[in-house]
Amino acid sequence: MENNKQLGKWLSDMNLGYPLTIAGPCSAESKEQVLEIAHQLKNTKVTVFRAGVWKPRTRPGSFEGIGAEALPWLQQVKKETGLLIAIEVANASHVKLALEHDIDILWLGARTTVNPFAVQEIADALKNTDKIVLVKNPVNPDLELWIGGVERLYKAGITNLGVIHRGFSSYNKSDYRNPPQWQIPIDFKTRFPDIPIICDPSHICGRRDTIETVSQTALDLQFDGLMIEVHHNPDKAWSDAKQQITPKTHNEIITRLIVRAKKFKEPQYIDTLELLRKKINETDKSLIKILADRMEIVKDIAAVKKERNVAVLQPDRWKEVTNKMTIIAKKANLDVNFVSRLFKEVHQESIRQQEKIVND
Ligand code: PEP
Ligand code: MN
Repeated sequence: MENNKQLGKWLSDMNLGYPLTIAGPCSAESKEQVLEIAHQLKNTKVTVFRAGVWKPRTRPGSFEGIGAEALPWLQQVKKETGLLIAIEVANASHVKLALEHDIDILWLGARTTVNPFAVQEIADALKNTDKIVLVKNPVNPDLELWIGGVERLYKAGITNLGVIHRGFSSYNKSDYRNPPQWQIPIDFKTRFPDIPIICDPSHICGRRDTIETVSQTALDLQFDGLMIEVHHNPDKAWSDAKQQITPKTHNEIITRLIVRAKKFKEPQYIDTLELLRKKINETDKSLIKILADRMEIVKDIAAVKKERNVAVLQPDRWKEVTNKMTIIAKKANLDVNFVSRLFKEVHQESIRQQEKIVND
């Protein structure tokens, strides 16, 4: 899959000149609803109309989608507005129905990507299709599982591929419904630069007021497009009401978003950037050297602990380190949470190294 320019051709062939915009309701609810939203989105910077026909719900009892009955409504949307149509498929029978109704884009949902059996079933049902197939990241932060999903489709002869980043579920309370963990999509992009990557801020945010900020971050990270849930009457939506926005708000957001150039064009800026990057490289080298020095001291400590048969973890000492670092970080204008996360990693590695020595 690496270095296969063919994979992103479907998107460059669209010749949009701006990020791909997919918009539409979380769920198709009625023919009137999908047509109303689609007509309001027509003539804005939207290329693809999305709607969930089968809805994978965390708990039973919520609205599980209209099902196949909604497919002709979407065909009508396409006929009346010229928008391409995208739906989620979760098994072979969904695929069969989607193909029969000439749906343009099929996506695998986050709860499907986690399951290689389900992904394989869909890949087999889609074998050699020229439809565009997008793979959402799995609900859990597992890059290999996400890549594996795309590979299964690729092996089934599907080359019009893309991925959607919709954040990762977390047990911890946070401002996000699904924290974005940007490093994961960045890692995906670094490994597969030819596969278009689209951000779904709606499922990341789970609320309306942060969709614009997350969308802007995605564009700043060179995402190729956005998939946003849009409803003509968001508060009354049958699913994901809190995160849906009106077509009007959507258009305002899309218009305000800044699309930055992918690269510097002016030579003087390229030189400045080069210089700053050299400085960063030197700083990074020092950082590694300092970490290595610290680890050597840790090993000496482990040797003493082993000799005296003292436990590796010394909770009071760890508390002291954390407290000190918080004060120093504040003084150095560094984000305290960032420093805390960093030191937790360092401490974990320090314990791993000490365990090796003590139990040798
Ligand atoms: C959706 O797009 O409506 C959806 C169910 O998303 P996810 O699979 O990302 O939860
Ligand atoms: Mn949804």
